[in-house]
Amino acid sequence: MQNPIRVTVWNEYRHELVNPKVAAIYPAGIHAPIAAHLQAQGMVVRTATLDEPEHGLSAEVLEQTDVLTWWGHRAHKEVRDEVVDRIQQRVLQGMGLIVLHSGHFSKIFKRLMGTSCDLKWRENNERERIWVIEPGHPIAAGLNEHFEIPQAETYGEPFDIPAPDTLVFVSWFQGGEVFRSGCCYHRGKGKIFYFRPGHETLPIYYQAEVLQVITNSVRWATPVDGPKIHFGNLKPPLEQVLREG
Ligand code: ZN
Repeated sequence: MQNPIRVTVWNEYRHELVNPKVAAIYPAGIHAPIAAHLQAQGMVVRTATLDEPEHGLSAEVLEQTDVLTWWGHRAHKEVRDEVVDRIQQRVLQGMGLIVLHSGHFSKIFKRLMGTSCDLKWRENNERERIWVIEPGHPIAAGLNEHFEIPQAETYGEPFDIPAPDTLVFVSWFQGGEVFRSGCCYHRGKGKIFYFRPGHETLPIYYQAEVLQVITNSVRWATPVDGPKIHFGNLKPPLEQVLREG
């Protein structure tokens, strides 16, 4: 039997403490329903938040994390650079990273993408229709051709990200915008997935399809035992090189 996947669900955890509307939807924090769902899938789950020492992401915690999920919004700037450095190193070594919704503006996502990661947005509770455009991708497992989020914050293109290695989902919004809402990347040995849905004033992280995608993406981003890579000088060659003449 394979070892269970070890997930750390990270949440900024500020809106819930100051905004009663958010607290009513996520009384134990946005991280709570995500962590509970992943745990119910047999994963070993811990949570971590911004105001814990080292944001709950000590070297030891990250060492024991196969996949880190990230939700942040109002306090991206408060995430300490040394913790961002540490997460980046772990991703390059193979840790998976799932970046949710407003996490597009997190230091770690911008660091790993190398672009502004800016986008257009509108809070208007519009319907979002998410289309699966890579039906064979593991992150789309168990979904229909499309699913709807009844009320969502609108995001619009252009989304200033590098072209994804694989684009799994595209969103349409009632107001006319479209958005690349499920984007896969590789950085070093690590896999990264950006997933758009989720807003602090809407109960989106209770929706079955959204939780299914998060589960699928954690499984996809789990590190595999790949070859040990040696960089640098390749002398001598693996075979004798014969030269003519
Ligand atoms: Zn939002």
